[in-house]
Amino acid sequence: MPDFAKLRERMVRRQIEARGLNSPTILDAFRNVPREDFVSAGSASAAYEDHPLPIEAGQTISQPYMVALMIAAAEIGPNDRVLEIGTGSGYAAAVISRIAAEVIGIERQPRLVKVARERMRARFKNVAIFEGDGTLGWPDAAPFDAIIAAASGSHVPQVLIDQLAPGGRLVMPVGGPGRVQDLLKITKRVDGTVVQENLGGVRFVPLIGEEGWQEG
Ligand code: SAM
Repeated sequence: MPDFAKLRERMVRRQIEARGLNSPTILDAFRNVPREDFVSAGSASAAYEDHPLPIEAGQTISQPYMVALMIAAAEIGPNDRVLEIGTGSGYAAAVISRIAAEVIGIERQPRLVKVARERMRARFKNVAIFEGDGTLGWPDAAPFDAIIAAASGSHVPQVLIDQLAPGGRLVMPVGGPGRVQDLLKITKRVDGTVVQENLGGVRFVPLIGEEGWQEG
């Protein structure tokens, strides 16, 4: 059995802190979530490797550094209500829950919703996971201080911008499947105008839905 605590600390230092993401709050959040519990059975020994891993339903759990980069870009704070689109394994939602007040996770694959909910139970009480099309956001719980999408869209849906609180941040990759996509950050100013920044090239699975790519 690997020494997961040691691997976790090494991951935090070498993959996140050494690459310039050194917010103590973010680093501690990663220290407090056992990633080995969020990967598929049989992949636990690879849980702290520096790349995405396959999970159930043909999807992936994102590289730890990418999760940290998106959390930092979204400037998530202790009083924030956060929407995570593409909750997958539940790992990123669990990490965010150690930083924010509340996390709403949306996932389109029923099988992943089931396993992610089981992982949250008791340990991550400020996370609620719903099955649905996250390209439409989650209007019942809006507005959000931050929205993070863990899958790459065809465009930035206006409906997501509408669900940002004044001052809110949306971080999402945009671009076609199988190619380098742009990680975008959209900030909604207090006066309602939006500012868009391109944070660089990334690779994510497609965001499939009414305001995203079509299945197949
Ligand atoms: N945050 C996840 C984690 O920590 O494991 C990463 C999940 S993976 C990179 C992206 C997820 O987005 C997949 O589980 C996929 O099923 C989901 N997805 C794709 N389109 C979606 C949509 N329209 N609404 C909700 N989830 C979607």
